[in-house]
Amino acid sequence: MGEVEKVFLSGLREKLVEDKVIDESQLEPGFAKEIVKYGGKDVMTCLQCGNCTGVCPISLKIDYKTRSIIKYCQFGLKTLTLGTQWVCATCYRCYEHCPADINPAEVMIALRHIAIREGVIPPFIKVAAANLVKYGQSVKPDLEVEKIRKELDLEDVPSRGAEYAKVIKEINVLVHAVGYDKLIGIEEEVKA
Ligand code: SF4
Ligand code: SF4
Repeated sequence: MGEVEKVFLSGLREKLVEDKVIDESQLEPGFAKEIVKYGGKDVMTCLQCGNCTGVCPISLKIDYKTRSIIKYCQFGLKTLTLGTQWVCATCYRCYEHCPADINPAEVMIALRHIAIREGVIPPFIKVAAANLVKYGQSVKPDLEVEKIRKELDLEDVPSRGAEYAKVIKEINVLVHAVGYDKLIGIEEEVKA
């Protein structure tokens, strides 16, 4: 299918989008503008220099290549793009090294906004969102940690106090009022 893999000395592989055969029906004109609408910069000004991939801590480890994603965006390959951006750590290293001032991190955030509205939400994001609404933090409080804190004579974690419960209630009211719970599919968690 014309797909070429670049194999690095470390054994990591990068699938090169420019060597893939792209079916015209996969292209969505206007995708670059949609990214701008959701807070990203104009991906059409990307030079494809590859600096972003070179400095990205995630790109070094897995098959996630910042430059390739920006290229998908330029082509309007929306379906290939949505779903890839969740692994971005938003560390902004790519931004520091981008000669075109694209800020790929913000592009990834814009892609997340678009993905949510398209209903492309990985289960772990739903879990993190539900935890945020229930506990005020994206990770569920760990009872084992609380036990250890007690043994060490440390203060209770704040999420156990009455004041905190009041704050959580307010968060619930807010996420429901703005429709965040419906958008992300966690209405049941908010009601609970
Ligand atoms: S560093 Fe900037 S210009 Fe270079 S490929 Fe990445 S986004 Fe494009
Ligand atoms: S912000 Fe995301 S894409 Fe940019 S370097 Fe960090 S992990 Fe990679």
